Amino acid sequence: MKTAEIAQRYLDYFEKNGHTIVPSASLVTDDPALLFTVAGMVPFIPYLSGDVPAPYPRAADVQKCIRTLDIEEVGHTPRHGTFFQMLGNWSFGDYFKEGAIRFAWELLTTPDADGGLGFDPKDLWVTVYEEDDEAHDLWLTLTDLPEERIQRLGKDTNYWSTGLPGPAGPCSEIFFDRGPAYGIDGGPATDDDRYVEIWNLVFMQYEITNVQSKYDFDIVGELPHKNIDTGMGLERVAFIKQGVDNMYETDQVRPVLDKAVELSGRTYGADHQDDIRFRVVADHVRSSLMLLSDGVTPSNDGRGYILRRLMRRAIRSMRLLGVEGATFKELFAASRDAMKDAYPIVETDYPRMEQYALAEEATFLRTLASGSNLLDETIVQTKGAGGSSVSGSEAFLLHDTYGFPIDLTLEIAEEAGLTVDRAAFDALMHEQRTRAKTDAKARKRQLADTSVYRDLRALGETSFTGYTDLETASTVL
Ligand code: ATP
Ligand code: MG
Ligand code: MG
Ligand code: MG
Repeated sequence: MKTAEIAQRYLDYFEKNGHTIVPSASLVTDDPALLFTVAGMVPFIPYLSGDVPAPYPRAADVQKCIRTLDIEEVGHTPRHGTFFQMLGNWSFGDYFKEGAIRFAWELLTTPDADGGLGFDPKDLWVTVYEEDDEAHDLWLTLTDLPEERIQRLGKDTNYWSTGLPGPAGPCSEIFFDRGPAYGIDGGPATDDDRYVEIWNLVFMQYEITNVQSKYDFDIVGELPHKNIDTGMGLERVAFIKQGVDNMYETDQVRPVLDKAVELSGRTYGADHQDDIRFRVVADHVRSSLMLLSDGVTPSNDGRGYILRRLMRRAIRSMRLLGVEGATFKELFAASRDAMKDAYPIVETDYPRMEQYALAEEATFLRTLASGSNLLDETIVQTKGAGGSSVSGSEAFLLHDTYGFPIDLTLEIAEEAGLTVDRAAFDALMHEQRTRAKTDAKARKRQLADTSVYRDLRALGETSFTGYTDLETASTVL
């Protein structure tokens, strides 16, 4: 089943069940504090919070999302993209737990031939918040799930709140079991490689106050209008339905991966590290294409910086795959062709988008070339003087003045049989960051970059690793 077909079945099903179909909002949010649309709920926040009355009682959509928080997972897990599409259905004070559970189960388990998604109920597990007996009992009575495939989990995974006074409530998540070849038995609580989370149902049930943290607060009482917010990963359903191993091998992503394989002359499936790089290239090229199509352009701060970082990581990965020349012309065209049916703008606006992609690639390749020359000289001098290590200050100069990434310095030095004084480099980086704190412009940039993580946390992310991610990101570049 093609990705587009899954999306269409989802929309048809919810339309048939009284939902207004709403087009995807842009990846770029109206809220300057939130860099990107990170979940299907983002465009609906005014209705969910009650600030604005919802114009419909029920809605469903396919929302484009960017989650830079997941960047380190890309290629390593089967299920994390920096760009992905979230299928969502909402109830604004209309149906609640029973309706949400009934709809999800019916759509998932109705056979392919009857317009459903055709999952075998034996492959599905669900989790509920440990104190949510109501959801537990609904799953038991409304579906064929045996009790042992309904797991009770704690607040860290199965509770949604913004960390602020206002609405909050338990979640229930649906998982697909990929079977014993992928990991140990025991359900979603035990293994997140074998059990793939596909759908999150959020029951916005309570009003909370006296909030100490995301999971520590007092419940004032039940909300007068309870809401349903759900999110299902389109790429996750697609990779399961298409019988492939991961989301990078689905029909909307795989053509880019294949193009990278072709350009590199290497084989996919032959080397674990190379496979990760192929998947990173496929993911980052697609995310960059989609960001460009929503008007983001490469720059040194905010949204444009994230785009730049994605493109540069793709270039770096191609280089690690043995390709030193330009590849974006072909990679972006492959991604355009795979995405244009779902998003015609990637074709109609392609000449503009391609210009940005090619210019960014040319600049970064020049940076890499001049940095490499300088590093080669340093290596010759170091060896000539009988040294075994590139100094921290040289590595820092390359990074700071030439924009030459530290991981590349490490790699080239290693190839030449030298080490790099990483501790000294890190100390200089730290010193520079401390200095930057007094620099108003840098402060602004930092705010823009971290706000996405702060807001992600507010949107129910289960862990907050934004600052460490940023540290890693700045060294990856
Ligand atoms: P995970 O635990 O696997 O990281 P999550 O709990 O962070 O997922 P939610 O915030 O609940 O995900 O988002 C709702 C749904 O969106 C998920 O059940 C999943 O199907 C999908 N999804 C979330 N993050 C990604 C991603 N980075 N790439 C692809 N799909 C995703
Ligand atoms: Mg999860
Ligand atoms: Mg989840
Ligand atoms: Mg996640």
